[in-house]
Amino acid sequence: MRSEPQAGDYRPDTPILTLAPWLADAVAAADFPRHELRFRNHRWGPSVGLESLSDAEWVDHFGRFQPLEGNLPQPLALRYHGHQFRNYNPQIGDGRGFLFAQMRDSSGRLLDLGTKGSGQTPYSRDGDGRLTLKGAVREIMATEMLEALGVYTSKTFSVIETGEELWRGDEPSPTRSAVLLRLSHGHIRIGTFQRLRAFEQAEHMAFLVDYCLDQFPGPPPPDDAPGRDEPAVMLLHQVVERMADLSASYMVAGFVHGVLNSDNMNVSGESFDYGPWRWLPQWDPRFTAAYFDHSGLYAFGRQPEAILWNCGQLAIALRMLAETEPLVFALERFGGLYQQAMARRFCWRLGVEPQGLEAEMALITASERYMVENAMSPDTLFHRHRGGRDVPTGEFGDRLRQYRSAGDDAHPLWWEEAPPTLVIDEVERIWAAIAEQDDWTPLAEKVTAIRRLGDALGEAPIPAGHK
Ligand code: AMP
Ligand code: MG
Repeated sequence: MRSEPQAGDYRPDTPILTLAPWLADAVAAADFPRHELRFRNHRWGPSVGLESLSDAEWVDHFGRFQPLEGNLPQPLALRYHGHQFRNYNPQIGDGRGFLFAQMRDSSGRLLDLGTKGSGQTPYSRDGDGRLTLKGAVREIMATEMLEALGVYTSKTFSVIETGEELWRGDEPSPTRSAVLLRLSHGHIRIGTFQRLRAFEQAEHMAFLVDYCLDQFPGPPPPDDAPGRDEPAVMLLHQVVERMADLSASYMVAGFVHGVLNSDNMNVSGESFDYGPWRWLPQWDPRFTAAYFDHSGLYAFGRQPEAILWNCGQLAIALRMLAETEPLVFALERFGGLYQQAMARRFCWRLGVEPQGLEAEMALITASERYMVENAMSPDTLFHRHRGGRDVPTGEFGDRLRQYRSAGDDAHPLWWEEAPPTLVIDEVERIWAAIAEQDDWTPLAEKVTAIRRLGDALGEAPIPAGHK
């Protein structure tokens, strides 16, 4: 069984202010015509001591953006650049969001509360700074499901409907508006480093490296890593380790993020920013989530490569502070770390005892063939195995029979016909109930079902120092 996040007191702490003079712009939130509380995360509220807020106070803070006590006096729009579909874009930054608050959890780790859809900023360009309600609802679903499937992800903390009419090319318009709060370990992106490189701000970059090492601590580089005592090198090792695990976690979850741009890569290794994501209806490396991803750059099977490419962009930025060789050494660890992460995560989801990297690589390869031949999704594959209902044939079956159960298959969920899924038909069905009847029950039921799946799966094997 998975445990609840550790409850803690509200402990404001705002280290971002040491970076803000060159990393952020103070901004104001939009004045919304209406505030309808639609989602409040009762699982994570207690972890930052905010569960005791009344709904009215909640809306004052997370819809009207009255500062939290002892926290940032004004929201901060963060500055960053990034590669979008491999094209460098210096015109981005927080265009429809800002950092609203920072605090410590009960173990002293830094958590940010950042917004999406809170209004225009100096980085909005032609955008309205808003988020559609459908976008917010989709982000609730994605973050809940990813968390249940053991992906290290930001959490959706709050969604408030804001009563505006928005016009979008990819939704029937006018469409409803919302403002969302995201809880995550910082908002320092690979693109944040790329911007400092573009402006040749080496001192600021050194400062930012130290900030990341302090706030998102991780294990030291391996003994044989050149330059292992240099802060920039240490940081790259940590980011590579986390990103390798993140890549594997997407693959084992059957999840396609859709927009793996370098501005959407948090150096804490936490997945975030959910736009056109999809879950696989069946195993297919070419499956693409975003309708605008014409070349399939961010297709399901290309996600590890895309994430590694972003790590390469971080390395290029860190060249301002370190030599090439130690940075390349760090990057070259990605493949091996990715395989190890695939092995442990695949066994975890199957509920079997690991045997060794070679055996697991063969098992995974055989499972992919099995899923392709049977037009099956990973959700189904894992679920049927847990319930003992599917005795696969062929090579996958032969290999799987050599694995022992890890002994935690007792949850009643595994005996149900099918697991909760978030394939597109499910997502659209849940949204249609809201759009057509303002019926929020299917969403609430889905969140409950997903959290139960998370309980059944238990804690994912994420190495210490990754989260
Ligand atoms: P995303 O694709 O959500 O990662 O966003 C890429 C960039 O576009 C970021 O700088 C966003 O802040 C900005 N952006 C996206 N949508 C809007 C919007 N509706 N208004 C203003 N800026 C936006
Ligand atoms: Mg983004």
